[in-house]
Amino acid sequence: MATTVTITNKGLRRTRTGHPWVFDNDLRANESTPTVPSIVTLLDLQNNLTGQGLYNPTSKIALRLLTKDETPITPDFFAQRTKAAVAYREDVVKGYEAFRVIHSESDGIPGLTVDKYGDYLVLQQHSAALEPFMGAILEVLQNHYQPKGILARNDSSVRELEGLPREVKVIVGSVPEEIPFKEGDMTLFAAPYTGQKTGAFLDQRENHVEAGRIAFGHCLDVFSYHGGFALQLAKHAEIVIAVDSSKPALVHIEKAAKVNGLTNVSLLQGDAFSLLRDFVKKGERFDTIVLDPPAFAKGRDQAEKAVSGYKEINLQALKLLHVGGRLVTASCSYHVSEATFYAMLQEAAADAERQVRVLEWRGQASCHPERLAMPETRYLKLAVLEVIDV
Ligand code: SAH
Repeated sequence: MATTVTITNKGLRRTRTGHPWVFDNDLRANESTPTVPSIVTLLDLQNNLTGQGLYNPTSKIALRLLTKDETPITPDFFAQRTKAAVAYREDVVKGYEAFRVIHSESDGIPGLTVDKYGDYLVLQQHSAALEPFMGAILEVLQNHYQPKGILARNDSSVRELEGLPREVKVIVGSVPEEIPFKEGDMTLFAAPYTGQKTGAFLDQRENHVEAGRIAFGHCLDVFSYHGGFALQLAKHAEIVIAVDSSKPALVHIEKAAKVNGLTNVSLLQGDAFSLLRDFVKKGERFDTIVLDPPAFAKGRDQAEKAVSGYKEINLQALKLLHVGGRLVTASCSYHVSEATFYAMLQEAAADAERQVRVLEWRGQASCHPERLAMPETRYLKLAVLEVIDV
């Protein structure tokens, strides 16, 4: 007999919007509800089938919907979803060596992300119930990309909530400490074992290239990590100062600058907040500034504090720009909405007494597609602004 779990009417109202998550308090166990992570059929209070999903009784997001119908959830089901994810990238990702291949719910495979860096794949798996199907998913990826190695970068704390071990493990072939990959015409380095995310910020890949296109003069790349923005800016700039608090991050920029034959990139290690204020105090001016901070709000409760952090750095950056100067400014906090980000920028510009025009609003790269019914998948906001003299 199929394993099942019952959804409350409140939970059902949410899944009817298309949102694929059901929280534990919207589920009721019945006699066929498993006590370990499993695939389950979701029943309404009248015992009608309303879907199937990945279930974990110990997780707050206890059920992640896979389908609303009776399609058998087999290894082949996941193989087909993987093939669709791969086919989508063939279509939308042109000319990039590194991109996200599977973006969790947006590709119908909740809990799994897979990134491709040249000849290597790096994955993060956050669903215990998905574990038995990983073989089928990997087989499709191996057949298609023929990677030299696959790394499971499974060290996130989310794994503990799922009852999964935290580990970083090569599961196919071998994977080097650093993977060079081309983005636009620049070579960057991913650090798959120790770097952030799976080793680099692929969600900004199109924005890196676009920022380079509009950059000029004296540039500042704040929160630069491995230089995704700094290197692109350097192509069009006189000089670029890359700012990050992390020494290993700056070491990667230095190496990449050399590899790309760039001699106009300098590095500054320190806290962005105080460095920006110091620049203002000293009367420094720049033509192009990039602000790409980490998510200041990790939860809803931190949103307000995050906004004051965003405002502070944007305010200082706007003071630092010449008239005609450009600010590329991002927020990857899902809990800071687009409307809030917009209002924060208006306030920062008002306080800095600068008039600003918007050249472009942008979001995350196309290999990180949004799932419309799931606002959590729309998290990256980026504005390209210009200071004007009116
Ligand atoms: N712009 C990068 C990604 C930035 S991730 C890209 O597109 O690839 C955020 C970076 O901010 C990390 O490298 C982290 O080390 C750095 N960081 C975090 N807090 C900081 C602070 N207070 N001052 C300076 N850098 C900081």
